Amino acid sequence: MGDLSENLAGGKPILVVEDDHGVTMGLTYALKQEGWRVAQAATLAEARRLFAAEEPALAIVDIGLPDGSGFDLVREWRRVSSLPILFLTARDMEADKVLGLEIGADDYVTKPFGVRELVARCRALLRRVKAPVTGESPTFRTLDLLVDLEKRKVTKGQGSIHLTHTEFEILRHLARRPGKVFSREELIQSIWDVSFFGGAKTIDVHIRNLREKLGGGPDNEGYIETVRGAGYKWRES
Ligand code: CA
Repeated sequence: MGDLSENLAGGKPILVVEDDHGVTMGLTYALKQEGWRVAQAATLAEARRLFAAEEPALAIVDIGLPDGSGFDLVREWRRVSSLPILFLTARDMEADKVLGLEIGADDYVTKPFGVRELVARCRALLRRVKAPVTGESPTFRTLDLLVDLEKRKVTKGQGSIHLTHTEFEILRHLARRPGKVFSREELIQSIWDVSFFGGAKTIDVHIRNLREKLGGGPDNEGYIETVRGAGYKWRES
C-alpha cells in the first residue's frame, strides 16, 4: 500500500493547515502511514510559506486559524493552482461547506472526522489527479470546448478555463455522453470512489461553479441542463 500511495503524491508533501495540535499529530501519523510526506502549518502565514516552498500534492485546510480564515488560503491558491484541496469543517456548519466548495475546494470532511475516512478522501483526490487516460482519446471536442484529458485542460476559443479537479471530473463524465441524464447519485459514485455523505447538495454547488466558469456556450444556452427530478445532462450539439 505504501508504494502505491507514495506514487499518488509523487514524492510531494501533503500540506496540513491546522492549529489544533492534537488534530495535526493524528493526521500526520495517518498520512505518514500511507507513505506520504507531510508539511505542517498552524497559521496562514506558515501555510503560504510552505505552499510556495514545497509545492504540495494536496492541501488539507482548517477554516478557523489564528491569523485568519482557511477560506482565504483556498481563494488565493485557486487563483494560481489546481492542487486538490480538502477542507475541515464543523459538522453543523452547512454554510461553510457550501462556501468552501464555491470558492474552489474539491472536498471537505466534517469534524470530528475519522482519520481513515480522511485518508480515503485524500487517496481518491490524488488518484483522480493522476488518473491515467484509459482507452479514451486524450482530447475531444464538445460544443465549442476542447477538452484535454491528459493535461486536464478545457479550452474555449483562445482562452483556457481553469477548473478544479472535481469540476473537471464532472465535466468529463457529462460531456462524454451528451444527452444522457446522470442522476446526482451516479455522478457522486463515479467521481468519489468513497461513500459520500455530502451528497446531492455538493454536486449542485460544483455544477453551479462549473456553469459559471464555462459561461453561456453556443447560442448562449449553456452546456449543462438540469433535468428536474432526474439529474443533469450535457447539451447535445
Ligand atoms: Ca482551528
